[in-house]
Amino acid sequence: MERKTIHLCLAHMSEEGLEQKYIKEAFDTNWVVPLGPNVDGFEKELEAFCGQDKRAVALSSGTAAVHLGLLNCGVGPGDEVIVQSFTFCASTHPVTYLGATPVLVDSEPDTWNIDPELLEEAIKDRIAKTGKIPKAIVPVALYGMPYKIDRIMEIANRYEIPVVEDAAEGFGSRYKGRVLGTFGKYGVLSFNGNKMITTSGGGALIAASDDEWREIMMYATQYRESFPYYQHEKIGYNYRMSNICAGIGRGQMTVLEEHLAHHKHVQALYEELLADVPGIHVHSQPATGEYDSNYWLCTITIDEDVRIKGQEGAYKTIVTSAIGGAAGVIHAASSATTDCQPNDNVEALREFMNQANIEARPLWKPMHKQPVYASVPAYVNGVSEALFKIGLCLPAGPCVSDDDVRYIVETIKDAIER
Ligand SMILES: *Cc1c(COP(=O)(O)O)cnc(C)c1O
Repeated sequence: MERKTIHLCLAHMSEEGLEQKYIKEAFDTNWVVPLGPNVDGFEKELEAFCGQDKRAVALSSGTAAVHLGLLNCGVGPGDEVIVQSFTFCASTHPVTYLGATPVLVDSEPDTWNIDPELLEEAIKDRIAKTGKIPKAIVPVALYGMPYKIDRIMEIANRYEIPVVEDAAEGFGSRYKGRVLGTFGKYGVLSFNGNKMITTSGGGALIAASDDEWREIMMYATQYRESFPYYQHEKIGYNYRMSNICAGIGRGQMTVLEEHLAHHKHVQALYEELLADVPGIHVHSQPATGEYDSNYWLCTITIDEDVRIKGQEGAYKTIVTSAIGGAAGVIHAASSATTDCQPNDNVEALREFMNQANIEARPLWKPMHKQPVYASVPAYVNGVSEALFKIGLCLPAGPCVSDDDVRYIVETIKDAIER
């Protein structure tokens, strides 16, 4: 019998179907709008989870949360924002929505996240070159791994630059016991279908004060002033989360701890089963006791000298779908290769696993290697580009069983030529 495809990270609803209960309530009480009791309830639950007296605004996406966080840091046309280069495009694109320029900073090898040394170098160099201080710093919890937030905050505070934490992949990850998204001026969460919990699509911005919370809420709802008619004094956005989506979120909050435990369990099993496979390394959090990653995805690196079956055929055919299948809409690629891509053995392993109904995915291609950011300033040490060439993401979501992990590891072992 053919195996069902094992996906990277699929949504998984609560056993009791609480998501549907909250949605039904929304219909029964006719709150089918982008506000309402589920949105308020979901925000309260996020605030309780985050602690630190934080406030939360539920939004239509994590991308919207990045956008409003930066907007509320005063980012505007002509400004620069420092962003971790090793990330998904939703960290950098909103900088451009605001007419500002991302300044990309490379990673350090321990967490794969923004390198604090290089961050400070970039700040100094931007001030020297432009005479202006960057308007914000965006570290990213890549694959859920906490960034070196103590060092980042120390530098950011010294230069008085606000930090917008992109914890979209790191919901529930902690540093020294404190939830990511609660250290900076703002914290970004995502509830897309493939993240730690889902609202189908959605996100949230975590803020520190009632005043900031109110301002973000104004921007998220078209900046309507209090009059009996529409009165606008600033440009706003239609970014508020729907009461239907928030109903899913409230149900999902009941399984968050379960999901966190499961992701960590899957990671530990990968670490155990792959420990004796030469040339394959599982990326783990630094063992200093400060880091508590949610292990959203398990990531491995593959030494260049590991020979994979079918490696000579890697990149011989043009791929006909965009990664993640974005709405099924693509441009036809004119070539099977670019000037910066994973090694042949990585692509061969991805394809071998694909044939075995396992979804593996290359690491995110660093933004400083993306054609769309070819002309923006970048402070690079080679770490993220090197990782991109040797790395692969493995399935780790709540639908991945122990048996699946064993099968995935056996498939990797099968793929290696000996
Ligand atoms: C998913 C993600 C976001 C936000 O994504 P949405 O899909 O808009 O919710 C932001 N940053 C990173 C790093 C992400 O992975």
